[in-house]
Amino acid sequence: MQRLFPNWKQKKIRSNLTFLHSEFYICRVSYPPLKITFLGSGTSSGVPMIGCGCEVCTSPNKKDKRLRSSILVKSEKTTLVVDTGPDFRYQMLRENIKHLDAVLFTHPHKDHMAGLDDIRSFNFLNQRPMDVYADSLTEEALRRDFYYAFTDTKYPGIPQLDLHTITLDPFVIGDIPVIPILVWHLKMPVMGFRFGKFTYITDANHIDTESKEKIKGSEILVLNALRKQKHISHFTLDEAVAMTIELGVPLAYFTHISHQLGLHDVIESGLPGGIHLAYDRLVIELS
Ligand SMILES: [Zn+2]
Ligand SMILES: [Zn+2]
Repeated sequence: MQRLFPNWKQKKIRSNLTFLHSEFYICRVSYPPLKITFLGSGTSSGVPMIGCGCEVCTSPNKKDKRLRSSILVKSEKTTLVVDTGPDFRYQMLRENIKHLDAVLFTHPHKDHMAGLDDIRSFNFLNQRPMDVYADSLTEEALRRDFYYAFTDTKYPGIPQLDLHTITLDPFVIGDIPVIPILVWHLKMPVMGFRFGKFTYITDANHIDTESKEKIKGSEILVLNALRKQKHISHFTLDEAVAMTIELGVPLAYFTHISHQLGLHDVIESGLPGGIHLAYDRLVIELS
């Protein structure tokens, strides 16, 4: 893993030191211009959901078609993806992605991990293993679910992964500095990621004070908003709106959306200024 400051002591066990380190990054590190593409903005079932005849699942509006949540983050030199859900292969084909440098994982649920096997195409094209960044919890799940990629006998054609275990320490992929942000999915820790003025958080229903401080100052926030009704491990629409306002981020896009939320255009028209629903193929440019 490349470090921005090789001499900077990386032994930051105490969380307050990690926080100070993150502040240091945010203030001192320059970020390349980034292009963010929403590869998917749907919850675990996707929208439409199999077998459902509701008005959202049968809507002709393209913005009501939501693949499983993921974003592509691209600088001039580096292309990475956050999560590889079950739609990963189609997402890469739809966006005509020919090169991918790395995969970052938020957490080990299937709707964020299931498509990892298809990085084999990039192994073949680039003739090298894929760099994969995951915390220890997700790494454990990767080693279990994709066990065949971690055996001593390397059968031809299996995924080649170069696993990097991440903590809350900032790190760099190519020319893109990344700040991990811990959020909570009921009792499961989930990694949010801050890329300069852009913060991406999915699958949360609680954010600690320390993590809120890491998000503050972002110009754009992506946050999960599942539906209007209360959920055990996801922010509702109202909770996501309240969190966005509390964090003082001027522009927000909600993701990980269920068919239960309602029609895109109807929900979008009722949101406060600066807050929008994300949709698949939405592109955000950060200079
Ligand atoms: Zn999810
Ligand atoms: Zn439906």
